[in-house]
Amino acid sequence: MQIDLEALKKLDLKAFFFDMDGVLFDSMPNHAKAWCAAFEDLGIHFTPYDAYMREGMTGTSTIYQAFTRQLGRDASEEECQRIYKVKCEIFESLPVAKPMPHVLEVLQTVQRAGLDIYIVTGSGQRSLLDRLNTHFPNIFQQEKMVTAYDVKKGKPDPEPYLMALKKGGFDAHQAIVIENAPLGVKSAVGAGIYTIAVNTGILKDEDLSIYGAGVVYHNMEELLSELPEIIAKAKRI
Ligand code: MG
Repeated sequence: MQIDLEALKKLDLKAFFFDMDGVLFDSMPNHAKAWCAAFEDLGIHFTPYDAYMREGMTGTSTIYQAFTRQLGRDASEEECQRIYKVKCEIFESLPVAKPMPHVLEVLQTVQRAGLDIYIVTGSGQRSLLDRLNTHFPNIFQQEKMVTAYDVKKGKPDPEPYLMALKKGGFDAHQAIVIENAPLGVKSAVGAGIYTIAVNTGILKDEDLSIYGAGVVYHNMEELLSELPEIIAKAKRI
């Protein structure tokens, strides 16, 4: 898929909004593994593909959907809590996810171009900024983050990306979003922001383009190779 240069020329680029899981960190394999194992415990069939398709959804919604689909009934509150607890325990036991290869260079390219960098994530880890600073020093700032603590609805609702626009005082045409998940793309596109999908997992490209991604790359290196041109076209001097 080729990027639409005409669409980029309509932007007045001031900032990039980065998703975190599957974009900055290669954490989706761990999430998928943990979900599958937690469901398997109860004899519910749930595949890694199911997990990738639901990335960004709340744990509760993920569990309710799986129950309705497989058992034709809602999960009880107790079942819901139990599965989510098991999922979290398994996730915590897995090796910590590494930064996505070449994403640091992507961030540095954006920073060198004088553009703002925001994080928009459904994650709510208290130590998030410390972890980000360890792997990506001098890139992120507390006031340029939207996390689980800032929003009520979360992705796929546009709320998190609308909040990032509000925090920065940007209009939708002044930002570009980098996302890896279908529901993340849906959220960003719903906020009216041009969205670049990077398919860092096991999904089909169509799973991302169907929600309105302007382009789908397959890894950060591919994005990196076109990033200078993207910035040059989208940024007004
Ligand atoms: Mg993600």
